[in-house]
Amino acid sequence: ASRVRNICCIGAGYVGGPTCAVIAAKNPEIQVTVVDLNQTRIDAWRSPSLPIYEPGLQDVVELARDGLDGRTPNLHFSTDVEGAILAADLIFISVNTPTKTVGVGAGRASDLTYVESAARQIAEVATSNKIVVEKSTVPCGTAQSLRDIFSTLGQDNVQFEVLSNPEFLAEGTAIRDLMTPDRILLGSLRTKTGLEAANALADVYAAWVPPERIINVNIGSSELAKLAANCMLAQRISSINSLSALCESEGADISELAYAVGLDERIGPKFLKASVGFGGSCFKKDVLNLVYMAESRHLTEVANYWRAVVDINEYQKERFTKRIIRQLNNTLNQKKIAVLGYAYKKDTGDTRESAAITVIGQMISENARVHIYDPKVKESQIKQDLSAEHRPETIDRCVTVCNDPYTACDKAAAVVILTEWDYFKTDGLILPPALFEKLSIKDPENPRLKRTSTSSSDTPSEGTGSSTEGSQHIKVHDSPLTSPGSPAEPANASKVMQ
Ligand code: NAD
Repeated sequence: ASRVRNICCIGAGYVGGPTCAVIAAKNPEIQVTVVDLNQTRIDAWRSPSLPIYEPGLQDVVELARDGLDGRTPNLHFSTDVEGAILAADLIFISVNTPTKTVGVGAGRASDLTYVESAARQIAEVATSNKIVVEKSTVPCGTAQSLRDIFSTLGQDNVQFEVLSNPEFLAEGTAIRDLMTPDRILLGSLRTKTGLEAANALADVYAAWVPPERIINVNIGSSELAKLAANCMLAQRISSINSLSALCESEGADISELAYAVGLDERIGPKFLKASVGFGGSCFKKDVLNLVYMAESRHLTEVANYWRAVVDINEYQKERFTKRIIRQLNNTLNQKKIAVLGYAYKKDTGDTRESAAITVIGQMISENARVHIYDPKVKESQIKQDLSAEHRPETIDRCVTVCNDPYTACDKAAAVVILTEWDYFKTDGLILPPALFEKLSIKDPENPRLKRTSTSSSDTPSEGTGSSTEGSQHIKVHDSPLTSPGSPAEPANASKVMQ
């Protein structure tokens, strides 16, 4: 197989940017150009202030983009999509694949508009052979649709080989996941040219990934494996969250239960923390995508089984807010509620599908005064997210975005932790003792409980979830934010809900 010398990646988002930065850093002899239609995003990738926050990303980008350590720069960001397609011998399609909002399958099916338009552009522009790689998460059969586009619209003398190479990185640990991936999945046709294309891409990864972790399978397996992995991760979260509801009614502690269950080697301790529900751009959309695939193949029981994963997640978010309301004498009207954390998980500024949007939205509907602090999310982003469901004047009246957690918590009736930033758990956020004096969480519906933990704020997302260690469940109780558990509960006492 001929070696890849020039890579183009269409889509400079959470996947395209970090993935190509690592590929470029590990392959100094390959030119890598990441293109996007969004000029602001490309400008940010070219600047010192990158458009996304991801631990370790800045160093990798600067190494390859700016040519540090005597290297020649080989990572480029551009809006010249056509130029990058023309020059490339391998093209990643790494565009967004959101859930369809209108038409057949609305609310479940994957919207392939952006994938299709990228493919059409490749077909129309290419004058030399291309390997086209699906990096975006797509339903089964997409590779065949791409092949149809290329054979219909492509020039006769140009060969296109389509591969599936789904991305398994998790936001917040993207660079670590890319540097030491559990596996690289390559789906290809089992033809000579298909296998040659897969080998050419495997060579790119072989620069740093051990060969036994690079797996070649057929395209359908590859497309479906990505969806299956996300569905099973989301299912694990919904499983533990559903058990958290039972724990609360039975006087059991979900952290202790998860720890005990996770010691079984067949189950394992990772990704077992109860939470206010999963967020992020992928879990919900990928589960719904699988539900839709099952429905459209008349596999009703399969569709129902996976739909329940999303149903439990919605239930958990609502249950969490209801519990806050119940514990504050059934009214949030005019009460100050401090919200610590807004991103959908720690170590990212991404707010897509964050549980915070739902929980805060419900608190706004109750006319609470919500004071929000998150170390990485900008005020403009928070207001934009909330404006999908609430009028601007309501948001201005009910929502204050704070620059530090102390201001947010000052004289609050409740402190609600919605993102598991280490800063809130172990890295030294100490709230004034006055706040703690009155702290106690007592569930009026369950007088047996002195304190309960509705759910820890961990909102694990896609990927291996390796940050979730069993022993940390227990530690959550010792965090400076946790109630000392005094049984007395004066009216309007401040409360910490995790
Ligand atoms: P994103 O929205 O951050 O980035 C997608 C980018 O593609 C946007 O900047 C958009 O402007 C650009 N784009 C769309 N159409 C284009 C076109 N025709 N030409 C040029 N640019 C175009 O999305 P993301 O989070 O990077 O996700 C991309 C894909 O990867 C999705 O299918 C997602 O499911 C999958 N994925 C995401 C993650 C994650 O953690 N975010 C992890 C694994 C897989």
